[in-house]
Amino acid sequence: MRLATAEINLTALAHNLAQVKRFAPNSKVMAVLKANAYGHGLVKIAQHLNDADAFAVARIDEALALRAGGLTKPIVLLEGFFNKDDLPILLANNFQTIIHDEYQLAALEEAELEAPLLCWLKVNTGMHRLGIAPEQFDEFYKRLQKTPNANNTVNLMTHFACADDVNNTKTVQQISQFDCLVNNINQAHCLSNSAGIIAWPNAHGDWVRPGLMLYGVSPMANALGEQHQLKPVMRLTTRVIAVRHVPANEAVGYGGRWKSDKATQLAVVAMGYGDGYPRHAKEGTPVVIGKQRYGIVGSVAMDMISVDIGQNEHNIKVGDRVTMWGPELPVEEIAQCADTIPYELLCNITPRVSYEYQP
Ligand SMILES: *Cc1c(COP(=O)(O)O)cnc(C)c1O
Repeated sequence: MRLATAEINLTALAHNLAQVKRFAPNSKVMAVLKANAYGHGLVKIAQHLNDADAFAVARIDEALALRAGGLTKPIVLLEGFFNKDDLPILLANNFQTIIHDEYQLAALEEAELEAPLLCWLKVNTGMHRLGIAPEQFDEFYKRLQKTPNANNTVNLMTHFACADDVNNTKTVQQISQFDCLVNNINQAHCLSNSAGIIAWPNAHGDWVRPGLMLYGVSPMANALGEQHQLKPVMRLTTRVIAVRHVPANEAVGYGGRWKSDKATQLAVVAMGYGDGYPRHAKEGTPVVIGKQRYGIVGSVAMDMISVDIGQNEHNIKVGDRVTMWGPELPVEEIAQCADTIPYELLCNITPRVSYEYQP
């Protein structure tokens, strides 16, 4: 009997990619697969994204793992390279690099490569994380055009800070600043993450970079109830491993932090922070057993969580399946109960969890 299991619905994944294309019909798609495809399994997910035009990852190791897995699409390194010795590896593996800083451009200029690399020049329009200043754009663009180590095609990129909030005018400013800089330059433009794809249609550009929405999760702030016709790809499940009666006013679990004011039953489920379930999920965070929701009580432990199923529940027994999140219980909701974001919950899944890929 499998306990903690991430069931991955590959039909939902394909549906979500199609949904990206419905939102941005004129853009190419760079599927973002960083952090083990947001916890869904890097190579397996990539193998089922045939309709994507390219893949994007954060680190070179992730890109090499895709190649080792037999995947041949172009791969974009979203943070670029950190060491000039990596440049021949990029070239040999058909990796494309972001250029976001002077040290990267200088290293590229100084390298002796057998062929040019395809580069994406990243401009900071207000995120203030990676990217050159708008004032540096002309200089960087010219130098990239000049060096024989960069392809004459230099794609142009920026990244949004607040696209998940439709009322935030910062995104409008970022779009217009980027457009002003690059409008007259006949190269591919790329601005939008998932939230940009869903909420900012005038920022779709030539390429889009969906991450979270591919996995069927809404990137929008206050996402609850608005699924944008996405289908959750992951269902995190486990099993009931004990059912016990507790009398009223008896402290339960580590630190005795919880007691029921009336006699009740607890279902103990095999899931904890050792599987990646958030330790800070608060009392009442829902799980689904059968078709019904119940709330967790006490502290989330490494291996187990107690669920209050009430005194009169007689059908729940050892071995019953429990859904921690999934189509019937949005991970967005669990994230809210744990004061975090769905991104973190998905990529925190630990190696102890088994994966089951379903066609
Ligand atoms: C992670 C990332 C994305 C994808 O963001 P989502 O919100 O998951 O769609 C896009 N672009 C860059 C630069 C990223 O780092």
